[in-house]
Amino acid sequence: MAKQPKQPDSMERVVNLCKRRGLVFPSSDIYGGFRSTWDYGPLGVLLKRNVKDAWWRSMVQLRDDVVGLDSAILMHPRVWEASGHVATFSDPLVDCKQCKSRFRQDHLPESGACPNCGTKGSFTEARQFNLMFKTHVGPVEDEANAAYLRPETAQGIFVNFKNVQTTSRLKPPFGIAQVGKSFRNEITPGNFIFRTREFEQREMEFFVPPADGPKWFDYWVQARHDWYIEHGIPESSITVRPHDTDELSHYSTGTSDIEYAYPWGWGELEGIAQRTDFDLTQHAKFSGEDLNYFDQESGEHYVPHVIEPAAGADRAALAFLLSAYDEEEVNGDKRTVLRLHKRLAPIKVAVLPLSKNEQLAPITSEIASKLRPYLMIDSDVSGAIGRRYRRQDEVGTPYCVTVDFDSLEDSAVTVRERDSMQQTRIPIADVVAYLREQFD
Ligand SMILES: [Zn+2]
Repeated sequence: MAKQPKQPDSMERVVNLCKRRGLVFPSSDIYGGFRSTWDYGPLGVLLKRNVKDAWWRSMVQLRDDVVGLDSAILMHPRVWEASGHVATFSDPLVDCKQCKSRFRQDHLPESGACPNCGTKGSFTEARQFNLMFKTHVGPVEDEANAAYLRPETAQGIFVNFKNVQTTSRLKPPFGIAQVGKSFRNEITPGNFIFRTREFEQREMEFFVPPADGPKWFDYWVQARHDWYIEHGIPESSITVRPHDTDELSHYSTGTSDIEYAYPWGWGELEGIAQRTDFDLTQHAKFSGEDLNYFDQESGEHYVPHVIEPAAGADRAALAFLLSAYDEEEVNGDKRTVLRLHKRLAPIKVAVLPLSKNEQLAPITSEIASKLRPYLMIDSDVSGAIGRRYRRQDEVGTPYCVTVDFDSLEDSAVTVRERDSMQQTRIPIADVVAYLREQFD
C-alpha cells in the first residue's frame, strides 16, 4: 500500500488534545470511564455535527435524487430476522481454559498461544456470539418482548422504502439517507473513538434498476473517496480496498472499503456495498408487503438493487483530527495547529480584544453579536493575544478578529488567518460580510 501512517505518537497527541480542549472525554469519567464509550465535549460535539452536516450537505442538499429519513432505533424484532442479523451477525469466540479470557477466533495469533497468559492449545471450541444488543420493551422481561438496539441504520431505510418512494414520488435511481446511532456489542472495541459499541452512522441506500448496480457502485466508491479528499484528508492517507470474497457480508456481492492510514495501520473509514435486492426481497417475504417497484414507462415490475455507502461519523472525526493535527516552529516557539477544513472546524471565528481595556469592549461585543447568527464564534479576553491565537490554532479556528486601540481611530480590525497566520486590516463595517464570504 501507499504511504505508511504518520509518526506513531500522533494518536497520543490527538487524544491528549481532545481531553485538554474538551473535544472528547471518557464516558462516565468521574466513575473511571466505561468500556470504550466516549462523550463529545463542547468543541467535539461541534466537530462531529459538522462532519455529519458536511455529509448531509453533499448527500442530500446538493442532490435532487436523495432524500432524508430519521427512523427509530427500536424496530420490530422480525426486521432482524429478515435482514439476517439474528442468524448471522456474529463473531466466533473462544475462551482460554487457563485464564478464562475471551477472544475472537479470527484474531488469535498463529502460534496458538493465549494472548493473555501464553498457554498453548488452551482454547475452547468456537461459539457464535451475536453482536446485537438485546433488550426488552415494556415491563415484562420475556422473549415475547425482546427487541434489539439497531446494529445499522440501513434497515430503517429498507422498511420505509415504500413509504418514502410513494410519498416523495421518486423513481430509481434514487437514495434515502440517514444519520443516527447504532449499537454493536463488539468483543474488541478500541483505538479511542475508532471502534466503539455505541456509534453514529451516516448511511445512504441508493435504489437502482438491477442492471445498473455495478455502474452505480463504481460511481459511489469514487464519490465517497473524493468527499474525504475535498474535506482535507490527504490523498496519500486514503485508499480504496475491494473486499476479498471471504470477507463479504451475507447480503453483498461486492464491497469496497475506503481505508485511512491510522497511526496503527490502515483501517476502515467507510464501506460501499452492493446489497443487491437482498434486503427488499427479504422484507417483502417476512412482512408480506409488496416491495416491487413498478416502472410505468417500461411496464416492468422489479425489486431495485441497492448500493450502500455506509460511514462512521466517529471514525471520520478521528481521521479528520489526525490529518489536521500539526506542530510547527514559529519564531522559536512550538505552534500546535489543527488544519481542519473550514466546514469542519468547531469554531469558525474568534473575536478577541487586544486587551481587557474597557474601551475595546463595545466594538468587540458588537462584532461578536453581528457574527453570531451566521457562524459559530468564540470570544476570549484572558491572556496575552499571542497565547489566545495559539489556543484558537490548536482547536482549528480558521479566523481570529482582533480589536485593538487603532480600531478606535480607523474603525477597522485585524483578521488573522489560521494556516498562513497572515493578518489583514478590514473595516468594521465590512468584517461580518467578509467573514461570511469565507464560509460560502
Ligand atoms: Zn489464557
